[in-house]
Parts: sequence; C-alpha cells; structure tokens
Amino acid sequence: MNAERNVSATSAAREILRRLHDVMATKAGAQAKLNRVVDIVAGALSSEVCSVYLLRDGVLELFATRGLAQSAVHVTRLAVGEGLVGTIAKTREALNLAEAKAHPDFAYKPETGEESFHSFAGVPIIRQETAIGVLAVQHVDPREYADIEIEALQTTAMVLAELISSAGLVDDQTVQQARERESRPARMTGLKLVEGVGRGQAVFHQPRVIVEHTVADDIEAERARVYAAFQMMREQIDNMMGQADFAAPGDHDEILETYKMFAYDEGWSRRINEAIDTGLTAEAAIERVQMKTRTRMRATKDPFFQERLHDLDDLSNRLLRIVSGQMDTAAKRGLQQDMILIARNLGPAELLEYDKRFLRGVVLEEGSLTAHVTIIARAMGIPVLGRVKDLRTTIFEGDPLLLDAQRGALFVRPSEPVVHQFEEQVALKARRQAEYAKLRDLPAETVDGARITLMMNAGLRSDMEALDITNADGIGLFRTEFQFLVSATLPRRERQTQLYKAVLDAAGDRPVTFRTVDIGGDKAVPYMMGDTVEENPALGWRALRLALEREGLMKVQARALIDAAAGRTLRLMFPMVSEPWEFDEARALVEAQLSRMVARGHPVPKKIEFGCMLEVPALAESLDLLLPRIDFLSVGTNDLTQFLFAADRANPKLADRYDWLSVSLLRFLKRVSDQARAARRPVTVCGEMGGRPLDALALLGIGIERLSITPAGIGPMKAMIRSLALAPLQHEMEGWLRRGINIRTALTEYASSRGIAAG
Ligand code: PEP
Ligand code: MG
Repeated sequence: MNAERNVSATSAAREILRRLHDVMATKAGAQAKLNRVVDIVAGALSSEVCSVYLLRDGVLELFATRGLAQSAVHVTRLAVGEGLVGTIAKTREALNLAEAKAHPDFAYKPETGEESFHSFAGVPIIRQETAIGVLAVQHVDPREYADIEIEALQTTAMVLAELISSAGLVDDQTVQQARERESRPARMTGLKLVEGVGRGQAVFHQPRVIVEHTVADDIEAERARVYAAFQMMREQIDNMMGQADFAAPGDHDEILETYKMFAYDEGWSRRINEAIDTGLTAEAAIERVQMKTRTRMRATKDPFFQERLHDLDDLSNRLLRIVSGQMDTAAKRGLQQDMILIARNLGPAELLEYDKRFLRGVVLEEGSLTAHVTIIARAMGIPVLGRVKDLRTTIFEGDPLLLDAQRGALFVRPSEPVVHQFEEQVALKARRQAEYAKLRDLPAETVDGARITLMMNAGLRSDMEALDITNADGIGLFRTEFQFLVSATLPRRERQTQLYKAVLDAAGDRPVTFRTVDIGGDKAVPYMMGDTVEENPALGWRALRLALEREGLMKVQARALIDAAAGRTLRLMFPMVSEPWEFDEARALVEAQLSRMVARGHPVPKKIEFGCMLEVPALAESLDLLLPRIDFLSVGTNDLTQFLFAADRANPKLADRYDWLSVSLLRFLKRVSDQARAARRPVTVCGEMGGRPLDALALLGIGIERLSITPAGIGPMKAMIRSLALAPLQHEMEGWLRRGINIRTALTEYASSRGIAAG
C-alpha cells in the first residue's frame, strides 16, 4: 500500500465517523439511517457498492445498499454460512478479496446485479459476541482493500451494532437464536484440581462489558477517560504485585509481570488514543484495538506469542471494565440459579464471595493443585477443573455446562445424550444421598457392636453447617490456616478469636480439635514467608517449624484459642511434629500463654487437651517417648504417605502411582495404632484416605476406631460401618498383612461377598 493511500484512508476513517456521528444524532428512522450509512461508507472508501445485511428469521437479509439493485433490498437473503456474506457471519472474521468470484464460498445473487464487481471486503457486525449482520463493500477494480480501510469498516460495524440494537432492528431473541445456532456442543479438557461433578449455567467471574456508545461527543473528554482508566489499571497491577493475595508463586508472578509490561506499554495506549482520534468513545476505542489483538491471536501459531496476546486481551477487558465503571464481579450481582464459575484465576477470598448454594463448579484457565483456591474449594466440596484453554472464545455467558472434574472434562452446550447420561449419574447419587440421610440419627456402629467415632474435617466457619446435617461426632480436624489462606494479610487476634468461638458455639457439646497453623509446603502464605524460595517446600520451613520460629504468630493464636474456649475444653494439636521436643516446645508456649492469662484474670478453658499429628514417619520411631506426654494422636495420611513413599502429594503424575492400601502403609499404621492403644491414647486418622469407604475399611481392619473425614463422606462411611462385622475383618487383615498380598483386591472381594457397602 502506498503512503498516499494510507493517509487518505486514515482521513477517510475519521471522515466516516464524523459523518456517522451526525447520522446517529438525527431523528430519522432506522432504515433512513442505514441508507445514509451505506452512502457515507461507499463514498469514503471510493467503492461502487456498500451494503448492510442483517439477521432476520435466522437468515441474512439485505437491508440497505448503495450500488446494488435497490429492488434487491429486503429480497436478497443468504443463510448463515452461505456465500461470502454468510461466511463472514459464520466465522465472525473479515474477508478482503481482490477477486470475489475466485473464493470457494462465493455465491452469485442475480437480483443484485453484482456481476460487474471484482473486489469484495466485508466485516461482521457483532453484538454480544454474536454476528448479527455483515457490512460489505465492493469495487469494480480487482484490488485488495488496505488494512486501514478494513479497520474503518470494522469501526463502522461497531457503530452500526449500536444503531441496530437501539433501533430494535435485530432484537435480543434473534441474537440468542443466532448464538445457539452458531455454537455447537464442545468438549473441553483440563487438569482435575478438585474431583466431582456439577451442572449449571456459565457465569464469568468478570463479566464482559457490552459497549453501548461508540461515537464520541467530545473527543477530549474520551481521551481524559482513557488516561484516568490507564492510571487506575496501573495502580491496580502495582498493588496486585505488592500484595500477592494470590496462589503459589510461579505462573502468577509471570502473568503479573506481563500485565505490568502491557499496562505501561506506550504502543498500546497510543493505538487506543488513535482510535479515539477517529471519533470513537473510550470504550469503543479499547474494543476496537482489542479486536485487532484477537485477530492476531487467532492468526499466530506461536504458543508463547499467543499467550502474551491472551494476557493483553485480559488486560483490555480490565481496562474496559474500569472505563465503563462496570467493576463488579459476578459475585456482587449474586447467583440466582445453579452456576459454573469461569475465571482465568481466582483468589480464595474471591471464591468465598459466591453463594455456595448455587455454585456447582469452577473452571479456570490457570490454577494448580496447591493454589489456595483449590485447597478451599476442596474443603467446600466444589469441583474444580484447571488449565482449560480458550474459555473466553468457546463459552458464552449463560451457556449450559456440565462439569465432570472426575474425568477432567467440561461439556459446553452438551448434546441430549451427554445430558441424559449425566442426569442418570446425578439421579443415582441423589438416591444414594437419600439413603444416607436416613442413617443420620443412627450410630456409626458395626454389626458386631463396635462404635466407631466418625468426625468431620473443617476449616471455614461455613463448614459448621455440615456438622448438623451429617450429625458427625465432632470436628476431628479444624484447619486453622484456612483463615490465613483466605486473607491478604495476617488475621488479627480478635478475628481469630471470633472464628474459634463461633466454631465452638456451633459445635455445642461435640468436641472440636483445633490444629495450630499449618502454613508452608503446599499452603504458602507470601505475607508471612516473604519471598523465601524453597527447593522442596514440602520438606521445608513449614507448619510447626515455622510457627515455633515465628513465636509471635503462635502466641497470638494460642491466646485467641484460649480466649475462645474459656469455660470449655480446648483440644489442640500441632502439625508436622517430627521429634517429641517440638511438641514439648509448642505445648510449653501455649501453657506460658495460659499462665499469663490466668495471672491477668482472663477467663480460660476448664481443660486443655494436647495432641500431636503424626505426619512425619520419624515420629513413629519415638512414640514410646511421645505417647505419655500427649492426650491424643492424629494421623495425617496425606503428608505421611508423601513422606513414606517419597511422592509429592501435589504432583498429578504421582497421584495414582502408589496405592493407599499398600502393605507398607497399612503395616506402618497398624504399628502406630497398636502402640497407641497399648498406651491408652486415642488415635484418629484425619487424612483423605479415611474418607473413602474401602480405604476406611482397611483402617478399621487394622484397629483404627476414629476417623475424621470430609463431610460428604460421612453418609457413605456410616453405611459401610453399619454393614460390617469388625472382628472377622480384623482377623483376616492380620493374615493379609503378614502374607503381603494385594490388599485392595482382597478387600474388594471380601466386601462384595459379605454385602459390606464399601463400593
Ligand atoms: C494430612 O496431612 O493428612 C492432613 C490431614 O493435613 P493437611 O492435609 O491439611 O496437610
Ligand atoms: Mg498435613
């Protein structure tokens, strides 16, 4: 393209917008306005033809033209996908052809009289991410239009979209129908972060902004708005970088760095300003530039470049939200029905803002197994699928979704058979739940009269509802670090006291075992740990190791717990104890706080019971020393197995490698359990293992009588326990463990042949 034509095209774009502005301001009817628009565009782009096609009754109808036969207006109609116009609507991509007839999709419409034209360019008219029409120009000469001319067409299409919707030429129902036709069912895959299934409508955490006004009344005012929006966005990003209320370091830092680079990128703001210069509003200018980014995103094959463009797209959305004042997340608007939440990433506190009654699942473009949002969602029982690509381009707000995080799949606009299969699965689950509900008031007692203590794990105030629903025997593990994970700063003592008190009040006379903060490892809290980078965080400065060093933290927590449990029994346990002296130190620290509070006349608990978590294998070798000093023991099989097998619990590749029912783990646990029984100290298993009926069956078989599990597991577990004769199983287990046979196979056969509900 020569320089001269470039300059004239730029001024053409500006001229078009100026004149469109006048057209929009007149009181003329919609058809008259459309007629004016095609005149203006044809004139400005020196084209013989300019036409507007709009969707009516599912087909694209010629609504206005200059250059084609006027008798074809409201007569010529093309299906979506038919001819060049139909192709543009279908693909939502521009076409720019020197020789229209040479294109395989060309369809000749004789009534238009278009045979004399060679070149053709067209762009989609888009409303709510759906093509509602096409704007096209044609020329007798076989020449391709310049990029800048195509951009002028795209800008005009944006203005037309506004005109069309405000005049009601294409109504919402048509848009909806077009969208349904356009969008086929899709199956997307990702990384299962929290297993489970869910069904609901797609809701974007950050809803897309719909640009209502495209033509500026006052260019200087629009420029000022964009300037202010850029300032605010830069501040937000700087804050995000400083605050790190996000997941584990790694991916996220990189994204924030890229955000920052773009936020301060002169080129980007210049392009937006140039678009404003042509007469667009701030919103339209941002979207205009964003369209270009998207086109480049689709065109590039380089994944790295694609990723960066994706970040820029994300940031454009943020800028749009800022400039239009539409900053609210979907949580602020509230969920009204079952929803699946879609986001690039989420902080744990953001997840908690959603109404749990309607939140059926979460789908993230990023996400990792150790991110706080994953840990919290797991505790809430909300399925999460992560690392799903192209969410924004495949899913529309309100689309029906089926999330099968069990198999790592998301079905978008699912077909009938898929829905049917899903419904059957859900119905089966519901029938089972109804059966479990009937067991609520019955004891967790085996057929031969052994009473198993069945408690639940918790970590959020909202978890306490489940205590009444499940009628569990108490809270066997309250993960106090959750409060730390969901806040951006260290929770103050008053807030800690409030939470612990609320938990104890909700539990009534049922016991609650609080575990002191278990931070570090998979639960990194940047505001406490600084930017320490550890090679092996699971083996690093975490849990009690960190807490004993950060004495202030532990003291504050001890005081909060003592305060909250005043007049009641406080059950306290310490995580990741590796040697007995660590327990001694932790206990001494708590007792010192107790004495201090007594001396100051503060009300204190009537009793404190101290327990210890067994998660580090070494501790099992000093149980003879430890047991006399503690009131109870709790086995954290999640960490214990990762240390015993030297297999990172957060590494998905290792997730299914070692069986929880391995002879080594069960022998190990049996030794611990026997030794504790001999010392008359109760042992609870509080890791995930205890929540699976078959695994729990093995635990009962080796003599464990207390389980603390996820609330959803209580019903199935009670059903299993109530169908079991314990003594014969324990006898069998002895033999199996001695012989070292495959326990899972043996146990599965044992359960099915005796009608034990462990499936
Ligand atoms: C465990 O390690 O088994 C445990 C219960 O603690 P967490 O999962 O919180 O590390
Ligand atoms: Mg643990």
